[in-house]
Amino acid sequence: MELYKNHALLAYNTFGIPTQAEYFIEINNLSELQNILDDTVYKTMPKLILGGGSNILFTKNVKGLVIKNNIKGLITHTASPDSVLLKAQAGEIWHQTVLHTVANDWGGIENLSLIPGNIGAAPMQNIGAYGIEIKNVFYELEALHIATNTLQTFTLADCEFGYRESVFKNKYKNEFIIISVTLKLTTSGHHSYSVEYGAIKQELEQMQTTELNLKNISTAICNIRNSKLPNPAVLGNAGSFFKNPEIGAAQMQALKNNFKDIISYSLPNGNYKLAAAWLIEQCGLKGYQLNNAAVHSKQALVLVNKGNASGQNVLELADFIIKSVQDKFNVILTKEVNIY
Ligand code: FAD
Ligand code: NAP
Repeated sequence: MELYKNHALLAYNTFGIPTQAEYFIEINNLSELQNILDDTVYKTMPKLILGGGSNILFTKNVKGLVIKNNIKGLITHTASPDSVLLKAQAGEIWHQTVLHTVANDWGGIENLSLIPGNIGAAPMQNIGAYGIEIKNVFYELEALHIATNTLQTFTLADCEFGYRESVFKNKYKNEFIIISVTLKLTTSGHHSYSVEYGAIKQELEQMQTTELNLKNISTAICNIRNSKLPNPAVLGNAGSFFKNPEIGAAQMQALKNNFKDIISYSLPNGNYKLAAAWLIEQCGLKGYQLNNAAVHSKQALVLVNKGNASGQNVLELADFIIKSVQDKFNVILTKEVNIY
């Protein structure tokens, strides 16, 4: 375990923003982590936990200690004839874990293929794509309480998962370090596939695939994502910058009267979800560039670093988008990416 002072964060965030951590450490097991939390020098410092840095925008140098959680390991238990419990340590790469489940014919997270980042961050915003969220397969997680340096177990109910939300982003913000996540997955012959969302069916047709299985669904989703989302290794970004806004029925009707083609999805609570990308596009901002930050030309919900953008450049663009959407639609976009 090595500790660095004034450590460059460029390689640790997919936006490619060049800031520094006052102190930086990579930990590989629980005792290393607990030792550093007990250390009198670092105990009182503010702490930022880092996974793959794919949902973060750094806007300044980070004060205190940045802890990169690299704890690895996967353990499987048989839960019942139709399910397995997969316990993954926080430092495991999410997509590699998805591929591992698909290869073993364990179902439940194939729709979450190719989401960047690590296991430990996945519950933070209840990662979701193509109609599935981690909460659908969540069993429990272990997290270290920073103040007391003790491990706690969180059940599904404890996590208070919502749309791109959890207790760790809200009530317990900065209080816990997620150490492991256990998922309950279906075994062969017991899968229930979810292919109604977005362009999955069209892609499966394009692939000329007749058989519905985990591998084909995962491949279809990887194909769609590769065709429209920028690869952070080539063009810095942190995925969707904004959440899809939820509005009430009266506001939905008013918007429909003015914007006949508006894209919306009805929700079980009677509200409506709007496609934020559509709102941004209608403001004429798809591909729009401000200083060194831009709206991605293939997916307007993604903001990209055109090279040498600062975190402030990205924030200014985000604020301009929020104002434009509010002026045109009277809808307020909220940021999904964690700003530091
Ligand atoms: P980081 O960016 O490192 O951290 C994110 C937040 O979690 C930070 O606040 C951090 O402090 C905290 N954190 C990280 N690890 C821990 C831990 N062990 N304990 C406590 N706190 C922790 N997201 C989706 O939901 N769906 C998508 O389809 C999706 N697609 C994406 C596509 C692209 C191209 C990109 C770049 C991003 C996408 N994302 C998506 C966003 C992102 O990949 C996910 O939110 C992912 O889970 C973030 O993981 P990370 O390890 O990179 O987290
Ligand atoms: P898309 O398929 O073009 O759809 C646009 C939006 O419409 C999505 O945001 C999605 O909402 C919603 N949607 C589509 N079909 C729906 C349905 N049948 N029922 C309800 N809502 C529906 O979206 P995309 O940009 O290519 O992304 C595909 C999926 O990957 C989405 O689920 C998206 O959230 C996810 N994704 C997330 C990130 C991120 O960083 N968070 C980045 C890229 C992709 P939802 O977003 O609520 O699902």
